[in-house]
Amino acid sequence: MRAVQLVSWQADPELRDVAVPEPGPGEVLVEVAGAGLCHSDLHLMEWPEGTFPWRLPFTLGHETAGTVAALGRGAGGFAEGDRVLVYGPWGCGSCVHCVRGAENLCLHRFGRPGAGCGLGYDGGLADYVLVPSARLLVPLGDLDPVEAAPLTDAALTPYHALKPELPRLVPGSSAVVIGVGGLGSVAVQLLRALSPARVVAIDLREASRALALRFGAHVALDARDLTPADLREELGGGATVVLDFVGNDETLALAAGTIEIGGHVALVGLGGGSFPMTFGSVPLEWSLRRPSWGTLPELHEVVALARSGALELAIERLSLDEAVDGYHRLHAGEFNGRAVVVP
Ligand code: NAD
Ligand code: ZN
Ligand code: ZN
Repeated sequence: MRAVQLVSWQADPELRDVAVPEPGPGEVLVEVAGAGLCHSDLHLMEWPEGTFPWRLPFTLGHETAGTVAALGRGAGGFAEGDRVLVYGPWGCGSCVHCVRGAENLCLHRFGRPGAGCGLGYDGGLADYVLVPSARLLVPLGDLDPVEAAPLTDAALTPYHALKPELPRLVPGSSAVVIGVGGLGSVAVQLLRALSPARVVAIDLREASRALALRFGAHVALDARDLTPADLREELGGGATVVLDFVGNDETLALAAGTIEIGGHVALVGLGGGSFPMTFGSVPLEWSLRRPSWGTLPELHEVVALARSGALELAIERLSLDEAVDGYHRLHAGEFNGRAVVVP
């Protein structure tokens, strides 16, 4: 089968021929219908050797959906042909976090051969993906597996970031989404579906701002030269919550300068910026959280929300041959929403 593999650090991945894996006891072989290209893969490729304790090569792709092709001995709960979403963080399954379904926080994630699908372990940018356990699969029901693939990260991650903050988003509150790409375009929809907050979207790209408006943002602003004062004027005060899907010095300064007293910043983007927190540079009683991916129970909730019709994934389909170039295009900011590779 074909697979897009990371062969060396700080280099482009390669499309290679590899053997179709055989499911061992408890494992499930999934025929891939769609696998999303996430900006985190670009960070992963940019970071130097040694940042992660993983052996190369491995197949990329941590946002995968497909159909069950074969079940290993003892793997239950699914039948061949079932449409499934692959929960991406693959933990030990037994630590204090894994047993409550938070495999994204597995205590042993860096002591194992990988942290998840396409992250040390072979992922979904291939004809087939071998999933270590049926517990990591979520039934898709009648959802289209190509369109549903991004649910497992582009929707799960903003859902996990937003869910604890929903009680603050009362009528009259406001939420700012910085960076309306794969994750941010879903965040706008989550905010509209789950809260009465006024939603202000910010992006450098005109097409991303148009997407934000299509998905229900009340206003979409150009990030270029946007100051906290401009944003506060637009909001008529400070922001209740800022979801930052970029995370560089500029966006974090914008977030810190815009939140209201007691306001919250969810820093999702891996842009490597610093949050200004000297006294006076940020309002009183601010809070900041760095959420990481999401839990299995939350993924079931996200799928339920999608099945209710509340989420529309904006996707562009690519073939496996186009995947490596797809990462270049992602780097250049050429996609609206998510690029999904359809093997
Ligand atoms: P993406 O490339 O699809 O979207 C990024 C968007 O941000 C684009 O629309 C781009 O135009 C916009 N943008 C870039 N710089 C900007 C700026 N200065 N101001 C405003 N907008 C700007 O990326 P994605 O796949 O949605 O991922 C977003 C970020 O989230 C990445 O850093 C990714 O690594 C990170 N991420 C984190 C987690 C986590 O668990 N914390 C999970 C997935 C992705
Ligand atoms: Zn990702
Ligand atoms: Zn664990």
